[in-house]
Amino acid sequence: MKKLNIVYNDNYDIPLPEGHRFVGTKFSDLYNYIKNSNLYTNLTIHQSKSAPINDVQVVHNSDYVMNVEEGNLSRDQERRINLPWSARLAKRSFLAIQGTLQTSELALNYGIACHLAGGTHHAFKDCGSGFCVFNDLAYASITLLNQKKINKILILDLDVHQGKNNFPFDKKNSNLDVPIDDEVDDVKYINILTKTLDQIESHFTPDIVFYDAGVDVHSNDDLGNLNFTDYGIKKRDEIVCEYFKEKKIPLCTVIGGGYSKNRQELASRHFSIFETVSKTYL
Ligand SMILES: [Zn+2]
Repeated sequence: MKKLNIVYNDNYDIPLPEGHRFVGTKFSDLYNYIKNSNLYTNLTIHQSKSAPINDVQVVHNSDYVMNVEEGNLSRDQERRINLPWSARLAKRSFLAIQGTLQTSELALNYGIACHLAGGTHHAFKDCGSGFCVFNDLAYASITLLNQKKINKILILDLDVHQGKNNFPFDKKNSNLDVPIDDEVDDVKYINILTKTLDQIESHFTPDIVFYDAGVDVHSNDDLGNLNFTDYGIKKRDEIVCEYFKEKKIPLCTVIGGGYSKNRQELASRHFSIFETVSKTYL
């Protein structure tokens, strides 16, 4: 029986004060959710390793990396990340970026792999931002390129935070940006997604796809303002998985954003990508 490769680490949770908007337990919550599901027997779970400091410096400037490691972030740097520094936060930051790299390597070998974390796309070269300490997608991409394992990467970022009227207000430009209105529902979104995938295809064929399957598009998310239902998220993930499976392009998924005080509900939303990948690939 074919198994699905998943990367996780028992140290992914982030210690946070009571009432913080980020759900620090969401990684172990999701892991436990998966463990109690019927997917579990079909998974091979890999523990992520810690990214070597020198390697992280390929994407982040060395002062910043050392400040994270040693707990010397300035007040402004900590405020921008919006997570209080702790030794555990530092540790998990090095684990989580390596986790995305490990997941991408598994994806190159097996065609598909899923990270039970990742999608920290707001981090800059010299500082973190918006709950993101290091940029895992940049780290994994640049490392694979430097190792000459691949030439072309597609980062398909379907997390809510970039494509709409929401954080970050200063939008970064990517090769293809698709603005989404606040009112967009499942059906309209799926249309835009399908068209966008075809538009990408007419431009280039990637050697690997990093898929940020953020669930902050859900209507009940605390920080996103879109109107997705559970069905919409499922449909979105199905379209992406089927599209790249059919084209035999390796797919590396990361969980991305998702915010809800209801931990069980949040875990079930993040579970969607694992369920869809299992259904599509196993
Ligand atoms: Zn987000």
